[in-house]
Amino acid sequence: MGREESAAQAKEAAKAQEAANAAKKTAQRDKQWAVGVKDTSSEAEAAAKAAEAAARAAARKAQEAAEGGLPVVKAKPGGGIVMSKCKLCKKPFDPRKGCPC
Ligand SMILES: [Zn+2]
Repeated sequence: MGREESAAQAKEAAKAQEAANAAKKTAQRDKQWAVGVKDTSSEAEAAAKAAEAAARAAARKAQEAAEGGLPVVKAKPGGGIVMSKCKLCKKPFDPRKGCPC
């Protein structure tokens, strides 16, 4: 995962969050207007909830992408360690020790 990719995903997450906020606002406004009229608040709330879920999923994706850029210690089934690739010197290194560069 590259930095550009996680930045793009963070942007997408922000967009989704904006959409969720807009849907929430619409839901609240519809609730106020719905007094004495047909009750559409449940529909608007469902839409807001769906938008929020989408925003959360996008945020999680962005978070995972950002974390993917960090050295993570992974255990191999055989018991060995998976080497991390250094972003600076591009060489594999033991993530428990860190890159010597
Ligand atoms: Zn290095």
